[in-house]
Amino acid sequence: MSKKFRVFATCDIGDSLDRLRERGFDVEVYPEPKAPPKSLIIEKVKSGIDGLITTLRDPIDAEVFEASEGTEAGKGSLKVVAQFAVGFDNINRADANRYKIPFTNTADVLTEATAEFAFFMLGMLARKMWPAEHLTRDNQWGFWHPYLPFLGDEVTGKTIAIIGTGRIGLAMIKKCAGFDMNMLCYDPAYENQSYINAIQENMDLRQARGISKEKNWIKYVPFEAALRDADFVSVHVPLLRPGESSTPTYHLFNDRTLKMMKKNAFLVNTSRGPVVDEAALARSLRENWIGGAALDVYEKEPLPPDSPLRDPAIADRCRLMPHFASAARITRLDPDPDKGMAGRCVQGLIDVLESNYGGDITKMPYVVNKEAFLQ
Ligand code: NAD
Repeated sequence: MSKKFRVFATCDIGDSLDRLRERGFDVEVYPEPKAPPKSLIIEKVKSGIDGLITTLRDPIDAEVFEASEGTEAGKGSLKVVAQFAVGFDNINRADANRYKIPFTNTADVLTEATAEFAFFMLGMLARKMWPAEHLTRDNQWGFWHPYLPFLGDEVTGKTIAIIGTGRIGLAMIKKCAGFDMNMLCYDPAYENQSYINAIQENMDLRQARGISKEKNWIKYVPFEAALRDADFVSVHVPLLRPGESSTPTYHLFNDRTLKMMKKNAFLVNTSRGPVVDEAALARSLRENWIGGAALDVYEKEPLPPDSPLRDPAIADRCRLMPHFASAARITRLDPDPDKGMAGRCVQGLIDVLESNYGGDITKMPYVVNKEAFLQ
């Protein structure tokens, strides 16, 4: 029988928590759908919890880690933070390393769901599905006409820029290849040339066998070239603030870079909100520097009522989703760590608390900040 670990989850992540209860863990779940105040998380850490389950809504930094060290009850009790998301920009990595607290994430299991959602947003935007449905619902569909009241743009055969070719960027490439798109890829940290070559071979075969009419292509290019020549730009980078990387992504899309895009190009962002300067984006849509944008993530979430992105004047070309890209049933809740974020989150927590992998944190697959535990 394992030690009775105490775990606090900042939100309910479904039946996967039963795996912890079955092991004799004492699991407390914050009962509200909204995020708990940071002061409550600190209070729980001070009370001596061993594990903390967080989501991207919870700011986790030195104040939280310190609470584990600061009181008798909680002295060093916190052993792991298990994040229910692949992105972890809400967790201060340097602070976690300083306090030697490992944190885990839920990479891979949401890759396909996020990529397909990015693709669907792109299609919805390009083919003007939202204004088209409004036409029908609002009884404004008075006639069929070759070009009135508006036309959309096809995706097939167009060129897309994939910004960030990590897990989700590569999955997006796979989906775009199925739509006979040409692809301009950009990633300053790692160019996955063998994947790109395999996609090219695949596209060549499709054309040779008569499945695709045109010969499509894919290549890595510099950022500016990707923006300049693409009909669509899809963003798949982590949020990296200045100082966190030599190529930070904070406000990667701003007045200057939005102006580099084609006048009729579309921007799709499923990465993190602060990657796009929203004031600049709203300007670019109002003043028609670009054709449209579809966003799943925002600088401030939920999107504030006075956001310039809500301007009715740009509603026809600005799609706004509620941070929904991974919001598919199996992706979010399946208890299998190879299928669901919940399963992977719980497994990450168990690995650390039960000292799996011989207690060697650097060998635990879901721990992110392994560098803090290297000898
Ligand atoms: P990943 O780490 O596998 O890939 C990120 C890629 O971005 C890496 O290849 C990295 O080299 C590259 N990169 C870093 N800086 C860059 C820059 N300045 N310009 C271009 N590329 C850069 O991560 P992933 O699993 O593909 O996830 C990417 C991000 O998507 C996550 O960090 C998360 O923020 C976001 N995400 C959002 C949702 C959602 O619900 N909307 C769901 C999942 C992930």
